[in-house]
Amino acid sequence: MDVYLASGNEYKFEEFQQLVEKLQIPVNLKRAVDAGGMPDVEESGTTFEENACIKARALIGRIPPGSWALADDSGLEVDALDGAPGVHSARYAGLGGNAVANNIKLIKALRGIEIPERTARFSCVLCFANSEGAENLFEGTCEGHIMMAPSGKLGFGYDPLFRPVGFDQTFADLGSAIKSSLSHRARATEAWGSFLQKQGS
Ligand code: IMP
Repeated sequence: MDVYLASGNEYKFEEFQQLVEKLQIPVNLKRAVDAGGMPDVEESGTTFEENACIKARALIGRIPPGSWALADDSGLEVDALDGAPGVHSARYAGLGGNAVANNIKLIKALRGIEIPERTARFSCVLCFANSEGAENLFEGTCEGHIMMAPSGKLGFGYDPLFRPVGFDQTFADLGSAIKSSLSHRARATEAWGSFLQKQGS
């Protein structure tokens, strides 16, 4: 089965490609550029589900008949901030905001709050859709705490501030082998893989 990833982000493609291989998911994962490129979309949804489906639907018009689109939307939800930055994770510090600016803003927002009260989770929703109107959603989460200061050089985004439950280092210290065994994206991809296995693909 040909599945086009609704993203122009090569980092994401490689991460999903590794997960598909590791989990032995029976798909031939293709880049959006192989279908003419990922159209520009406004991620205007208020939930990860909505945004994942906006991205998947945008690519469906471009992919060959019989193939599928897979889109993901993800972000960090901090309980003490009522779920922020949530769907705004990428642009938390402003439209031109980068990961460093986002992390600085998060540290400031949590000033005065001790680590046990800094509970948070990464969430990822996958939308797996085709041109016949099928849309299947899969979710994965990874619980943890936000640290007082960044630590580690690996990963991206909020990884230097996020310490997953059961570990005493951040995702940016732990690196991709450990992260890919417990991340929100890995768990959502596992759920998608189980669905495909059950469908007998
Ligand atoms: P999107 O799913 O590409 O829209 O990404 C949303 C944003 O959430 C990213 O730009 C990061 O700021 C954050 N994010 C999502 N997943 C991770 C992760 O695994 N580590 C660190 N930050 C992440």
